[in-house]
Amino acid sequence: MYIASLSSSSTCGNAYVVWGDRGRPVLFDCGVPIRRLVACLREFGIEPQDLAGLFITHEHSDHVKAMCLVTPFAQKYRTPVYASRGFWKWYSRYACRLDRDLMRPIAAGEEVVVSKSRVRAFSKPHDASEPLGFVVELEDERAGFATDLGYVTEEVESCLRGIEYLVFESNHDVDMEKRSGRPWPLIQRVIGSLGHLSNDQAAQALSDLVTAETKQVILSHLSTECNTPEIARSVVEKSLKRAGKTVAVQVAPAREIAVYS
Ligand SMILES: [Zn+2]
Ligand SMILES: [Zn+2]
Repeated sequence: MYIASLSSSSTCGNAYVVWGDRGRPVLFDCGVPIRRLVACLREFGIEPQDLAGLFITHEHSDHVKAMCLVTPFAQKYRTPVYASRGFWKWYSRYACRLDRDLMRPIAAGEEVVVSKSRVRAFSKPHDASEPLGFVVELEDERAGFATDLGYVTEEVESCLRGIEYLVFESNHDVDMEKRSGRPWPLIQRVIGSLGHLSNDQAAQALSDLVTAETKQVILSHLSTECNTPEIARSVVEKSLKRAGKTVAVQVAPAREIAVYS
């Protein structure tokens, strides 16, 4: 299994693509401009029309930018789009042209097979309309995508414990966030239970989620203002060490492409 982070932050957008030696690739979120998305996919020899599906976590613009166009990405390249009913309700208010046959509602707990990939949705606490996380299984390996969540629920834990690749949010350092000078309501939103996971929350959760089967932890959706890759990695590595867990910890760059396998 190959996982590429095309972009991973609130400011630069989020998009991740997964593919294997057989079958067609699958895209998770598309929060970057359409031209950049296409250019990034082509870096891996993937044409946008090769995608077997696009899975959308929630409607915030850093996850759906390429869908919020008169002719959205998925319409242009005929990509089936899997998202929650809450998302589709929100999307119906947009003046976008997307054929009905490309809209595939998916609910938490539901599993779909697209090409060779099996994708399962789970719910997560975030201030969006029925936000989802996903676990994709391909060629006997699994990758979980859990960004944009205020805290780690039992459902999230049970979906992610022991899977091979954890693309996991480590959004902010709480002190940096509180001292950021941002408007207080924004700070409260970020650190609140429907906001984003702090480094400490990520570290605590990962010390439980990582098992001997876990191959890589990919810290993602880092704040470019209230976190640094060094701080996030160090907090998580210390916590894993305390828990006696050994695993490679990567940090997905905010804007650059990175590939993991
Ligand atoms: Zn986000
Ligand atoms: Zn969000």
